[in-house]
Amino acid sequence: MAYWHRLVSTIGGRRIIGALGALYVVLAVFRAVIMFNIGEPTSSILLITLLIVVPGFLLIYGAYSLSRSDISAEFHTDITGWCLAGFGAMAGLLILFHLQPEGGISEPLTGIPILTALGSVGGLGVGIYDGRAKTQTQQLKRRAKQQEAVAHLGQFALEADDLNDLMYEAARKVADALDNDYCKVLDLDPENEELLLRQGVGWKEGIAGEATVSSVEADSQAAYTLANNHPIIVEDLETETRFSGPELLTSHDVHSGISTIIGPFDEPWGILGTHDTDQQEFTEEDVNFVQSVANILAEAIERTEKENQLRDRKAQLDVATEAASIGIWTWDIQKDVVTADESLLELYEMDPATEGAPMKAFYEPIHEDDAKETWEELERAIEETGELRTEFRIERTTGDITWVESRGEVEYDIYGEPVRMHGAVADITERKAREQRLEQLVADLEESNKRLEKFAYAASHDLQEPLRMVSSYLQLIDSRYDLDEEGEEFLEFAVDGAERMRSMIDGLLQYSRVETQGDPLEPVDLERILDDVRENLQVTIEESDATIEADSLPRVQGDPDQLRQVVQNLLDNAIEYSDDQPTVHVTAERNGTDWIVSIEDEGIGINPEEQEQIFEVFQRGQSRSDGDGTGIGLALCERIIERHGGDIWVESEPGEGSTFSFTLPSSGRQ
Ligand code: ADP
Repeated sequence: MAYWHRLVSTIGGRRIIGALGALYVVLAVFRAVIMFNIGEPTSSILLITLLIVVPGFLLIYGAYSLSRSDISAEFHTDITGWCLAGFGAMAGLLILFHLQPEGGISEPLTGIPILTALGSVGGLGVGIYDGRAKTQTQQLKRRAKQQEAVAHLGQFALEADDLNDLMYEAARKVADALDNDYCKVLDLDPENEELLLRQGVGWKEGIAGEATVSSVEADSQAAYTLANNHPIIVEDLETETRFSGPELLTSHDVHSGISTIIGPFDEPWGILGTHDTDQQEFTEEDVNFVQSVANILAEAIERTEKENQLRDRKAQLDVATEAASIGIWTWDIQKDVVTADESLLELYEMDPATEGAPMKAFYEPIHEDDAKETWEELERAIEETGELRTEFRIERTTGDITWVESRGEVEYDIYGEPVRMHGAVADITERKAREQRLEQLVADLEESNKRLEKFAYAASHDLQEPLRMVSSYLQLIDSRYDLDEEGEEFLEFAVDGAERMRSMIDGLLQYSRVETQGDPLEPVDLERILDDVRENLQVTIEESDATIEADSLPRVQGDPDQLRQVVQNLLDNAIEYSDDQPTVHVTAERNGTDWIVSIEDEGIGINPEEQEQIFEVFQRGQSRSDGDGTGIGLALCERIIERHGGDIWVESEPGEGSTFSFTLPSSGRQ
């Protein structure tokens, strides 16, 4: 039987049926010619010929239409078997009939072809019916196998820890369910424009994990698949026109297959491809099956990537929270259960095995002075703001205090009910200690400053009285006694010295009062200030024949009296430390929210090494120490400008001139 089956399949089942049909047609024509010659009636010839030719044509047509039918080619041999069995059965019956003593076929040339032809057609009909039934059963089995494979892979994907295992299993199942020789999972490397064969079945040894195919070259099936957002079916690679078979496929004698993208079209992860050495026809179900497996892989890959990301983030968070001494907590508000991490439980001196505790438990270690307010802030966060940000102290059993900052965010459900709160608690004890030290330092500094100011004020104030006495007695000596020339000269020095001392004491007094006696800052028009100063310095300006050129000046925020003092000191110096007929420029330039005011002269300039010292009290430049100055003017200017939150500095070139500049906040009404 097997031998017969093999013989039929080698010759080709369809060919035998077609040949049988053709034989009947030839036989009918042959018979018709003979009968015509021996004078049989034409109507009879025609009828009998038809009775043989029609089944003959039916057989030819049946053989032809088998190739286009939905009956699987592997059952064509069986159909031929049925057809020949029909023929055989009819022939056998006729022989039996012929052999019986009383019977016999009167016209064997007519009866035998007609009846065997009909028998063959009948056999063909049964065969087709049988073939179709077998094909359907086979398809159902195949589909069941595919469904079983999808279900299995879905489950496998959920359980597998290693993506490689899943990919191998997927390749194995696809090849098995489609009865293909090869299946492979290609991993796309967009940077190198290639795909690596990560896992597969059927391939020669050493190919999995090593072989690559191009993801861009025009002849690559992979590149073509990546460029299409639907699966690609190949029925015969040899006659394929869309791409030529890459080396990997041709070297494995691949003829047919399906390939599809794993992952989204715009961001593919790779390709799933299944191939066979035979020319296979794939149904829509087959294609859907391959796509379903690709989708399972895509989901598993995405989930693994997310899990990896999550793991990395958690590791980073752990490091960060540990480095910053931060504890994290989540509060299930409705169940009143707080889940805290280890470092938070440690901070609150709670058992590390605590799985969840009510919120109140976390308020027990809070310092009694902070407990009430902190609890109220928590309530406010839940009911009103949705956010918690508070600082409080935790009292340890040792009595040590830990300062913490607690932050949290409330999560509400769609009805606006608070469901959860996530938060973090950071140990800020060191920061608090630093802040407290700083506050203390500032307080101490302010205190000491005040004391110094008081002292300077008291000293300069109290010195005025004895000085006044010295001056008045010197005047008395001058008016009552007739001194010789040398005596007069000495007395002049003494009066001069007392006068300088008075100026110095006045300056000191002013200096000590800058902070305490200043007026509140208000918008001040610098134009007016300059006008006042010009008036005050009128005599000096005239005597030295000075020219003062000024830009239009802005309004600033300041204490008018003090600013007048600054401008006057700087202008006075500019004239004093210049030669005859000095020219002084007053300019103003905007710098963000501040103004930079500059007073520039073309005078004697200042040595670079003195440019900082001159702002100190009683410090005078070497260049002209014989003048009337006391060395307190610039120190006073600096203190006033500092009170206004600004800076003062000088740029100078000895012999060329100096520019004194200071910054002031704008009045905000420019
Ligand atoms: P005083 O003018 O009373 O000496 P200041 O504090 O006003 O005191 O000035 C300190 C020193 O700075 C001055 O002695 C002088 O040497 C130098 N100085 C100030 N302004 C100028 C200027 N415009 N040009 C050159 N030197 C100056």
